[in-house]
Amino acid sequence: MSLNFGRTQTAIPGPSVVPDRVLNAMHRPSPDIYSPELERIVISLEPDLKAVAQTKHNVATYIANGHGVWEAALRNIVKTGEHVLVLGTGRFAQGWAVMAQSLGIEVTLLEFGMQSPADPQKLEEALREDTSGKFKAVLMVQTDTASSVLNDVKACRDAINAAQHDALFVVDCIACLGCDRFEMDNWGVDITITACQKGLMTPAGLGFVYFNDKALEVSKNTSPGEYWDWYPRVNPDIFYKRYDGTAPTHHLYALREALNILVHEEGIENAWSRHTTIANSIWAAIEKWNVEGSMQHNIQDKSLRSTAVSTITMQDGNATKLRKWVEQNAGVTLGVSLGFPEEETDNSFRIGHMGHQNIPMVLGVLGSIDTGLKALKIPHAEGALAAATSILAKH
Ligand SMILES: *Cc1c(COP(=O)(O)O)cnc(C)c1O
Repeated sequence: MSLNFGRTQTAIPGPSVVPDRVLNAMHRPSPDIYSPELERIVISLEPDLKAVAQTKHNVATYIANGHGVWEAALRNIVKTGEHVLVLGTGRFAQGWAVMAQSLGIEVTLLEFGMQSPADPQKLEEALREDTSGKFKAVLMVQTDTASSVLNDVKACRDAINAAQHDALFVVDCIACLGCDRFEMDNWGVDITITACQKGLMTPAGLGFVYFNDKALEVSKNTSPGEYWDWYPRVNPDIFYKRYDGTAPTHHLYALREALNILVHEEGIENAWSRHTTIANSIWAAIEKWNVEGSMQHNIQDKSLRSTAVSTITMQDGNATKLRKWVEQNAGVTLGVSLGFPEEETDNSFRIGHMGHQNIPMVLGVLGSIDTGLKALKIPHAEGALAAATSILAKH
């Protein structure tokens, strides 16, 4: 007998669950791309996108995934042969570093491993040593989606200031914008990068590059090429230049609806709090399950964990076994291990808890995991769901 019936659920760290309302908003005929209606929608998105990142500066939209906006940002601020400093936490910033190298940019990587955040002290030292000012930018992720570590953006800005270095501070918030608190302007971020398929609850396909006036000045001396140039995208002399071609029509309706939910109905502060509570409930369950290291959050210190994704380490290859069981028997897809050494890949999995998440969805995932642990006779303690509901009840 199989119990795998009814709705399936993805609990991977992107693409995240798309609300039915967002899907339904796309269910319509193609609009005329020269119609004023489409332009109105595009213009209406701008203040809401800025509210999500807490900025009054510019936001350029690309028809792209996260990799696309990684490249877009680099092309606008760095030239071939120039240098950037990358803070390597987990796996994602390293991928960004490889992309920079592919563009002929010289990369210095400060590596912090799979279980630690970027160390602002090390950043300050590296910048102090750069007496010639060769680093044009510091690249960092706020949340690393492989390790689930949360970097302290403000502390890293303070480190750049303390070193009196002029590099642009570029932060990838792809995993966690709309989930983990983020204040672009207050925290002194020059460029913020994100994409729509995680905290923004929209099918993959839109990428965003926010940039302030300092970044704009720098971009006047680069040659990103027509398509990647961010300036016409925020100051178009004619509408089609916003996307340098056909607008991402249905994605715009989807994003409009997602931002209605996130910014106008829930509110960004509430969204951050909800993510905190949900993450805390998941962490309480993990703590309860654990028997002598059978199940642990990859990041020990709770204050260094993202509230958008949790990486869980296990023993004896149990993570892959559990993930497969849960997918086959409960219809719940968990995230695969990423960034760990090859021989360790069966010993971790990830839960994406970003965006469109509520109590039944979270408990569905935790309950499915709990069932899998029992069915597979993996060592665990009882009471994980009760630990989670106690947290959820206190919100
Ligand atoms: C998902 C993610 C990316 C990559 O985004 P794609 O859309 O897959 O290109 C980059 N950085 C972070 C932190 C992410 O979470």
